Amino acid sequence: MSKQINYFKEDFGEDYRTEVCDYITDGKIESILDSAKKPDKKEIERIIAKALKINGITPQEAAALLQVEDEEMINQFLNAAKKVKEKIYGKRLVIFAPLYFANQCVNDCLYCGFRKGNKDIARKKLSQKEIINEVEALEREGHKRLLVLTGEAPNTDLDYVVESIKTAYSVKTENGGEIRRINAEIAPLSTEDFKKLKESEIGTYTCFQETYNRKAYAELHPSGPKSNFEWRLSVMDRAQEAGIDDLGIGALFGLYDYKFDVIGLLLHAEYLDKKYGVGPHTISVPRLNPASGSPLTEVPYPLSDADFRKLVAVLRLAVPYTGMILSTRESTEMRNELFAHGVSQISAGSRTTPGGYEKKEKNKEELAQFSLHDLRPIDEIITGIAKDGYIPSFCTACYRLGRTGKDFMDLAKPGKIQEFCRPNAMLTFKEYLEDYGTESSINHGTQCISNLMEELKKDNSKLAANIAQKLEAIADGEHDLYL
Ligand code: SAM
Ligand code: SF4
Repeated sequence: MSKQINYFKEDFGEDYRTEVCDYITDGKIESILDSAKKPDKKEIERIIAKALKINGITPQEAAALLQVEDEEMINQFLNAAKKVKEKIYGKRLVIFAPLYFANQCVNDCLYCGFRKGNKDIARKKLSQKEIINEVEALEREGHKRLLVLTGEAPNTDLDYVVESIKTAYSVKTENGGEIRRINAEIAPLSTEDFKKLKESEIGTYTCFQETYNRKAYAELHPSGPKSNFEWRLSVMDRAQEAGIDDLGIGALFGLYDYKFDVIGLLLHAEYLDKKYGVGPHTISVPRLNPASGSPLTEVPYPLSDADFRKLVAVLRLAVPYTGMILSTRESTEMRNELFAHGVSQISAGSRTTPGGYEKKEKNKEELAQFSLHDLRPIDEIITGIAKDGYIPSFCTACYRLGRTGKDFMDLAKPGKIQEFCRPNAMLTFKEYLEDYGTESSINHGTQCISNLMEELKKDNSKLAANIAQKLEAIADGEHDLYL
């Protein structure tokens, strides 16, 4: 059994080391990057050809792609990433909303507005009534999937989080408004606590390592439980031990050299896959944004848009089966580009303030974790997605039918998940348009669904007939139809 974290102990030592800490060491990441320097054209072409078989590439091969500076070669693997993404996930983009329950925090992450040392922020912990109001506001915009977040603090402990998740699931609004999947991004827990969290029926548990470089990590996380690198790195082992098998990893790009952290993420994915037969369900690729009250006035390792595009494509080629999440931290233009190169899930209509939805505040600075770039309402985001030929999806089928962990991977790895993703995206998007669509989203969305129906008829006429029937049922007022 893992030890409980002690909020009041500043030095956590190395008590929490597990195998993963030896699997991902700074020296190993550096030597992978060093040995991949100056890759030749033939080798890059071999790696791209291998990646197109959608079985992934090794961290060593990914490192070679990351070292490429030649624009023509970079374009080659950006195009390959596009093909791989379409083979596995088709054109669907899963939509979710983050919901911040609270912003109290005992940690002092130098980049975050919620950090303990930020005296300018107003602290807020939502009451159960306020959570109901927030969820009602989100359901009335059409959301079905939430990612709930908190800082790390004794007054927003696991009991509060579990109660709040149950409250959020219980909220029902008109037009069949309900939340069907809640993912959680909260501080690392012990195995025992993860068992309790699992009982609240969360979907994915997510935790970003922020950076895999121990020295940079120590400087950026000077105190609190999060200062323990090993406690954080070993978190996915404890979640697995507790039976949570859909896990999300991530790095906060801009904190350290992006190549180093991409290899860190890939070693982490490889470790989980080898140890549990299940790689990460998702990889998140947040980029550092300015946070008010943060002592980091400049991004320590600025990441250009070109580098960002490149890293998204490399991750997509390396772990084709893994969902990739982008948030509203990115501008509309950048998000649109990254959909093509590998991103498969996005947040929409987000606020990073506890209580930000009900009040319709534009991310009130005094409560916010960091500033956002894409502040468009969800319907506008969805219209844009449909116009660009992608299909927004509110699907929650896999998790509700028990297709999680290894069962999900067994479908995702050979590219079979699309047989569910595409029809379920069509069905849930249709439901959105019926219940919440505006003139513009209905026009573009209807066109998008009918284009997909034509494709489906060619690929699988029996399935197309089944989906056509279900679409009609939804138009007649039925809800929650999925495969
Ligand atoms: N407090 C928990 C933790 O740190 O793991 C969970 C939620 S925290 C609110 C979610 C994530 O926000 C962090 O893991 C970090 O990567 C990200 N974040 C913090 N400050 C940020 C900033 N200025 N720009 C972008 N992302 C940031
Ligand atoms: Fe707290 Fe998480 Fe922000 Fe760090 S990133 S200060 S742990 S909320």
